[in-house]
Amino acid sequence: MEMRHQLQDQLKRLKMPGLWQALDLRLSEAQTNNLGHLEFLSLLIQDELANREDHMLGKRLRAAGFGVQKSFEGFDFRFNEEALPASMLRDLATCHFISQKQNLVIGGPPGIGKTHAVKSIGHEAARHGYQVLFRSTQKLLAELQSDSAERAERVLRRAIAVDLLILDDFAFRKLDQREAEMLYVLAEERLGKASTVLTSNRPPEDWYAIFPDPVVGGAILDRLVSAAIKIITTKGKSYRREVMAKENRTMEENSR
Ligand code: ADP
Ligand code: MG
Repeated sequence: MEMRHQLQDQLKRLKMPGLWQALDLRLSEAQTNNLGHLEFLSLLIQDELANREDHMLGKRLRAAGFGVQKSFEGFDFRFNEEALPASMLRDLATCHFISQKQNLVIGGPPGIGKTHAVKSIGHEAARHGYQVLFRSTQKLLAELQSDSAERAERVLRRAIAVDLLILDDFAFRKLDQREAEMLYVLAEERLGKASTVLTSNRPPEDWYAIFPDPVVGGAILDRLVSAAIKIITTKGKSYRREVMAKENRTMEENSR
């Protein structure tokens, strides 16, 4: 018992909670299966590593600010296969485009799964160890103009630095000069250094009109969109309308 306490204390000081949690299980496993010393140690180290990775992933997911989390596990690839090709989404899920610092643009009508898809890509990126920031474009622009200059500065630094910046619902409304300037800073600072993902309900050719100054607008879109991987569609069924409406009807029927 003395030794257990000592060990627990030492593991706490070493910050190795995963090893401590797994100890009893691994001890009995070692006894039942007659594990060698090295094998036993190796299993415990793996437990500690797995625990750390879990912990770090949790941190990255929280820092990303997904709100409602979505992942490809809950994504029906066949539902809108024509609008959002499964093969492209699967390629994107490998995060190769992030290592290549490429941008991604997904444009198409509401409800077809754009936000779900880019949150899922963000989730995969976090699993790959990338730092991710997810925001609706409106919200990020508001945060960048926070009353607290310190907060605004912190958000800007993070939005520039993350490996993957996801701007959901881009080109939702017209921007003012200040907002356009901030977007320009983001686009310029990230170009070729880190991936930016945009989703929009409008086609990219309509995006120029949201900027107060066509020159700045052109410069921003040139940086964000020109060399981006693009999935632009006018097709696609609204999952919200078709599947969720059906589910709601079934729920109502069942509750009667
Ligand atoms: P968009 O961003 O294109 O407007 P969303 O991604 O918000 O659409 O999708 C609307 C709702 O439908 C969300 O709750 C989303 O999780 C769900 N959804 C959309 N497409 C799929 C799909 N292929 N499989 C599972 N759920 C989906
Ligand atoms: Mg959306």
